[in-house]
Amino acid sequence: METKKLRTIIGLEIHVELKTKSKMFCGCSTDHFGKKPNTHTCPVCLGLPGALPVPNRKAIEWSLMAGLSLGCQTNSLSKFDRKSYFYPDLPKGYQISQYDLPFSYSGKVETEKKEIGITRVHLEEDTAKLIHRNGVSLIDFNRSGVSLMEIVTEPEIDSPELAKIFLKELQTKLRHLKISDCDMEKGSMRLEANISLSQNDQLPGYKVEVKNLNSFRFVERSIRFEVERQKEILAQGETPLQETRGWDSKTQSTYSQRQKEEAKDYRYFPEPDIPPINLKTSSQSEQPLDLEQIKKQLPELSQRKEARFQEDYGLRPDQAKILSQNPQTADFFDRVAKVAKKKGLEIKAVANAMINKKINWQEISPEDLVEQLSKAGQKKILTASALKEVVGRVIKNNSKPVADFKKGQQGAIEFLVGLVMKETKGQANPNQVRQEISRQLA
Ligand code: ZN
Ligand code: MN
Repeated sequence: METKKLRTIIGLEIHVELKTKSKMFCGCSTDHFGKKPNTHTCPVCLGLPGALPVPNRKAIEWSLMAGLSLGCQTNSLSKFDRKSYFYPDLPKGYQISQYDLPFSYSGKVETEKKEIGITRVHLEEDTAKLIHRNGVSLIDFNRSGVSLMEIVTEPEIDSPELAKIFLKELQTKLRHLKISDCDMEKGSMRLEANISLSQNDQLPGYKVEVKNLNSFRFVERSIRFEVERQKEILAQGETPLQETRGWDSKTQSTYSQRQKEEAKDYRYFPEPDIPPINLKTSSQSEQPLDLEQIKKQLPELSQRKEARFQEDYGLRPDQAKILSQNPQTADFFDRVAKVAKKKGLEIKAVANAMINKKINWQEISPEDLVEQLSKAGQKKILTASALKEVVGRVIKNNSKPVADFKKGQQGAIEFLVGLVMKETKGQANPNQVRQEISRQLA
C-alpha cells in the first residue's frame, strides 16, 4: 500500500466557568460546587416559561478582558443567540450562546513552539448536571445557567504535545486575569478537541470531536489515540466518520457517542429576550460598557511579569518563568522582593528559596521569610579557615582544571568555584571562594 504523508490537524474548544458571583442570566449564586442539589435555582435557570434572562455585566466585562488578553478583536455590536438541541440537562431545549457576533474574535496565543490563532471568545450558559445512580438519572440544576466562556482555536495545532503546551499557556493567562479557577478536576475548565488527518495537504472532508477531556494528560492521550485510529481507517482507503466521541479513561480509548451535528442542526437564531449589546451605548444598563475602561483593568500578564522579573530583579529567564506562572506566587514574590530590597537581602536568594524550598507562602509573611533567609544566610557562611581547608582539598584533587587555569584558561576557575560550592553545600560566598582559589594558585 502506498503511504501518503499525513498531517495532524487539531482545533480546540475550551469552556471556562467564570468566577462571577451570580449566574449568566439570573441572580442565583454560582457557589454551587459540592452543595445540596437544586438549592441554587430560580425560574430563569430552571428554564420555566415566561422567565426573562438578564445578562451578567461582570461576565461580559470579563469575557472582553479575556479576549483582549488573547490578542482578539472586539465586536462593538454583539448579541446572544439561541442554540437549539435536545438534552435533559438543558431545560429550555436551547442554550443561550452566541453565534455570528461573539464578543471577541481573531486573536492569537504565543507558545514556546508555535503561535496558535484564536477564532473566537464567546459567552453562554452552562448546563445542568446529570447524575446517573441506581438505574435512574437525576438532574441537578445548580450549575444550570452559570457563566461559561467558550474559547475556540484555529485548527493550527499539529501535535498532542503542542495541544498540551497551548492549554497550559492558556490556563496561565486566564488565571492571571483572576476570572476563572480553570480547575479541570472541578470542571471549571473543560475541553473538546477536533481532530482530523489531512492527506497530501488537502483539507480533510471530516473531523472527529472528542469530548469530556478533564485533564491535560487525557487531552494528549486521546489525541494520540485518535491519530492512530484515523490513520488505520485512512490506510484502508476509507474516511473516518464525522462524529462525536467520548474518552474512556479506563480503556484509554475513544468511543463513538453520536454523529456530529452541524451548525444548521442547532437552528441558531437571535435571542429575542436580550437586546443586542452595543459596547459604547449599551442601552440596557445605566453605564455603557467601555472597552477603554476594560483595557485599563487588564492585569499584568504572565509574559510581561516574566520580563519584568528579569529586568527589575535580575532573575535568570528560567527563574522568572517559574515565579511568574501562578499569579499568587508572583504576587507573593513581588512583596517579598520589596522587603528583601529594604533589608539588603539579595533578591536572587529569595527567588532561589521560593523555587527550591517550596515555601508555603500562605503560612508565612514576606517579612518573616526575609528574616529567616537573612539569618540562614549569616549562619551558614563558612569561617575563613574552613574555607581555606576546602579550597586546598579541591585544588589537590582536581589537577586537570588547576593545570588549565595555570595555562591561562580563566574559565577553569569557575569550575573550581563550583566544586567548592558543592563541597560546602553552598555555605560559602562565591566571591570569597574565587579569591581564595586565586590566592592559593598564585
Ligand atoms: Zn437562577
Ligand atoms: Mn459551548
